Amino acid sequence: MEYDIIIIGSGLGGLECGAILSKEGYNVCVLEKNSNFGGCFQTYQRGSHRLDTGIHYVGSLDDGQIMNQYFKYLGIMDKLKLRKLDEEAFDQIHYHGKVYNFAMGHERFVDTLAQQFPAERQNLQRYVEKLKEVGDLISIETLRQGVIATEGMRYFCTSAARLISETIGNPDLQDIVAGSALLYGGIRDMSTFYGHAMINNSYIESAYRFVDGTIQVSDELIKVIRANGGTVLNNAEVTRIVTDDTGAKGVMVNGEEFMAARNIISNVHPQRTLELTDKCRLIKNAYITRINSLPNTYGIFSVYLIMKPKSLKYNNFNVYLHGYNSVWYDRQNYPGHTTNCMISMQAHTVDSEWAEVVTILTPMYFEEVAEWADSKPEHRGERYRLFKEAKTRQIFDFIRQHGIDLEPHVESIYTTTPLSYRDYTATPEGSAYGIIKDYKCPQVGFVSTRTKLGNLYLTGQNLNVHGALGVTLTAIITCSEFLGQEYLAKKVGNA
Ligand SMILES: Cc1cc2nc3c(=O)[nH]c(=O)nc-3n(C[C@H](O)[C@H](O)[C@H](O)COP(=O)(O)OP(=O)(O)OC[C@H]3O[C@@H](n4cnc5c(N)ncnc54)[C@H](O)[C@@H]3O)c2cc1C
Repeated sequence: MEYDIIIIGSGLGGLECGAILSKEGYNVCVLEKNSNFGGCFQTYQRGSHRLDTGIHYVGSLDDGQIMNQYFKYLGIMDKLKLRKLDEEAFDQIHYHGKVYNFAMGHERFVDTLAQQFPAERQNLQRYVEKLKEVGDLISIETLRQGVIATEGMRYFCTSAARLISETIGNPDLQDIVAGSALLYGGIRDMSTFYGHAMINNSYIESAYRFVDGTIQVSDELIKVIRANGGTVLNNAEVTRIVTDDTGAKGVMVNGEEFMAARNIISNVHPQRTLELTDKCRLIKNAYITRINSLPNTYGIFSVYLIMKPKSLKYNNFNVYLHGYNSVWYDRQNYPGHTTNCMISMQAHTVDSEWAEVVTILTPMYFEEVAEWADSKPEHRGERYRLFKEAKTRQIFDFIRQHGIDLEPHVESIYTTTPLSYRDYTATPEGSAYGIIKDYKCPQVGFVSTRTKLGNLYLTGQNLNVHGALGVTLTAIITCSEFLGQEYLAKKVGNA
């Protein structure tokens, strides 16, 4: 049997492409190497607890906002169990001994910060106008006009840190508005204003947690694909993309079974996709060299704290802690040290009163775990366990310096490193957010949905912006290669 489209990987991007294209009548097959579907949208079980891997909150999910519209078109919006974060403070930024709140709604965001920085009110206003300009590149109105996204290259060429410092006068406030830069792997002399604004604008519009696990998104998308006659298979690792001189012919699964397809979409990191693809004359070495030379963002060390029952109150907001002098992760000056972290509580019910699972995220480069690079999950040895234990202790010390002591409430601890992400999602060196978009050379970091093989396409977080919003936007762009931009944009916009 020959599929119309084989999709490699069941991350959000792969499943969304599967859902869109199966809805539109294509015979699709999604292949996932792991037993769990969802990539970073999977939830794993430890005892009676469900732990989320790569999503802590998602923005723009209110009625009439873009993510809500995308999910409505995909047929899953009304199936999701969500908890809206506190409108007065969905994020708390702890900076130089004080706490600053990010409030929902552009006006309220300005009003809240202006209470602590009254002289900056107008500048804050200008700043949120800039965020909105970027957010509006992907508005529902634009979709209805038949355009998925208005071109925003000038924001890709703009430094996030510089635009902030040109818009806002007070140096502390400049840092505070960049206080959630960990969300996008923020690096002062690289990060684009496009990425900063897409993500921040979306959360300012509205910010939600998934109740009882992000896996519900993956589960619902799989239902859509299957209901439309598509196939979704787990434990099906693509070990080779088979080509001849005319294009891709299909894939080898688990090294033994050939599956034929007229087209292939890879949801896997582009560098890994090229490793899987047979050498052929259509893919020039220059293309391979360019893709392989692109640097990736840092990884994340995640500490999952299972809390004692009814011991710690549930916080309906995220906390970002910053030490030293910068909110941007400063690897040169503090290698291996925790200088920034985010604390997020999972919502177990729509009205959770007590914290059951608390996650702490902090940047970690692969070199910190490089000595275990050849090991496999669950078999990394005692030294690795001790390394993770020491890192966790250091993080507890760091957050205690900010007046937060979680340890007395903790029942048990699980941790993951960039090695875990490398082995589960196949991102090079366990990078959290994939290819870095550097404002200094945006064209270089820009990876198209099209490859040099006419019928091999890419999707996922490496192409445009990462995260739920960026990946969904990219899935729509990838699918427009088959369906036409105007047709698909109007369908999504009028859903
Ligand atoms: C710690 C962390 C926290 C984050 N927090 C947030 C957040 O709060 N909000 C937000 O919006 N975003 C967040 N993100 C980012 C977000 O999770 C990702 O951008 C997004 O989920 C990536 O989706 P994807 O489809 O591109 O790829 P992935 O989720 O990486 O999926 C790729 C899939 O391909 C599969 N695969 C790989 N190789 C093969 C193969 N050879 N054969 C078959 N299958 C294969 C993998 O197993 C995986 O399932 C976070 C990321 C991390 C790491």
